[in-house]
Amino acid sequence: MSIVMKFGGTSVADAAALENVASVVATEREAAPVVVVSAMSGVTDALLAATDIASLQEVFERHRSVSRALLEDDEAFAERLSSAEQEIAELLGAPAERPSERKRVQDAVVSFGEVLSSALLAELLNQHGIVARQVDARRCIITDEEHTNAAPLMTETFARSKSELLPLVESGVVPVLGGFIGATAQGVTTTLGRGGSDYTAALLGAALDVSEIQIWTDVTGVLTADPRVVPEAQTIERLSYSEAAELAYFGAKVLHPKTIQPAIESSIPVRICNSRAPQEAGTLVGPQSETSPRTVKAIAHKSGVTTVQITSLRMLGAYGFLRALFEVFDKHRTVVDVVTTSEVSVSLSLDDASALPAIVEDLERLGTVRVEPGRAIICVVGEGLRGTPGIAARVFSTISDINVTLISQGASSINFTFAIEEERVKEAVTRLHEEFFATKRHKRHRTEGKV
Ligand code: ADP
Ligand code: ASP
Ligand code: MG
Repeated sequence: MSIVMKFGGTSVADAAALENVASVVATEREAAPVVVVSAMSGVTDALLAATDIASLQEVFERHRSVSRALLEDDEAFAERLSSAEQEIAELLGAPAERPSERKRVQDAVVSFGEVLSSALLAELLNQHGIVARQVDARRCIITDEEHTNAAPLMTETFARSKSELLPLVESGVVPVLGGFIGATAQGVTTTLGRGGSDYTAALLGAALDVSEIQIWTDVTGVLTADPRVVPEAQTIERLSYSEAAELAYFGAKVLHPKTIQPAIESSIPVRICNSRAPQEAGTLVGPQSETSPRTVKAIAHKSGVTTVQITSLRMLGAYGFLRALFEVFDKHRTVVDVVTTSEVSVSLSLDDASALPAIVEDLERLGTVRVEPGRAIICVVGEGLRGTPGIAARVFSTISDINVTLISQGASSINFTFAIEEERVKEAVTRLHEEFFATKRHKRHRTEGKV
């Protein structure tokens, strides 16, 4: 049985980070790892922003200088790099007219970030005496044709991943694949959506039925809140699959929202570790959660959300209304996140408001529509929320001066979710974190200080 080890963009950002990855892989050598790697941090953004090849010189230079610094013999990689440069130049030089064509070209260009980082890491591992081979992920991850956000075709992906990777693993070779990228059955390059390397790791893990999927990143596991907002956030030792899924979905970027699904289906534990501090334990996500002394495990948040409210007296006692309403979102291929209903109104939140004008036009046939952009969702998560009364009251009294809408307790009852105005989200998360996670002494001290 092997394991999957996925290293994110910051873990392969420069020569020092890559050296670190090589030593982390070396420590797991006995576990027969399959390595998945993101593009060097910032490379995907740079490739997406590129309109001409000249704007990418910095990206190529970064790869060139890292390979010179690390590889004793960098000739093969230098060749790979110049052929990438040439291919990207050709792709950018033939501007696409139709939007669908543009997305296809975009996927082809952006894929080079992962192609190059995986080539570099495979070379480096070999130099460290770990027999490794770069495997083109497009031979394993087979997807539909939804460019920039493709969905894997599971049967094909599992079969191809097994046939490409198992012979290598069984003969003691470490396969190194770029995450995030895939190909259609016809071999056209696709991508799985931003942050999708985690998803690649989970798909390969499920296909190979590994004993653990490890996500190596720049923080020690899943923390009690986003550390950029709450610097004192702490690592959570254990999370259930459902807790991790809710957190990922509602903004904890450390785990891509789609990562958990393949792991659940095969009951594979997912471990989130820090590539800069590999000795720290990180977070283990599995079927069972630890029984936490604290009811709340973590607080996630997500900004840039739009809420939509549809009010109609026609809803009263009528069936078919909700179906008609959701058909509008279906038609415009827009995902709805949180939904709440009353007798005469439905409120919901959207992440992607790009189709909103057309959606509103259709919704206005059903009732009065009110749109509020600039909202944020806060999600309080913990298996212990199930059956613990008073959490909502604590949440609301902590942020009583902030207007809360769209209150929802998910069907699983392990999350409590609501929307507030975007400008106050950092303040709200900080205060909630203090309420649910500060030690008693710390809290008392703060109160005394206030008086
Ligand atoms: P990678 O490039 O390794 O995939 P990401 O940037 O996608 O890394 O995810 C890691 C980042 O997620 C962290 O640096 C942190 O800022 C952010 N993050 C947001 N919420 C959380 C959370 N609850 N726990 C840990 N990290 C979080
Ligand atoms: N490189 C891709 C991105 O930046 C995928 C990933 O890092 O997971 O979105
Ligand atoms: Mg990520």
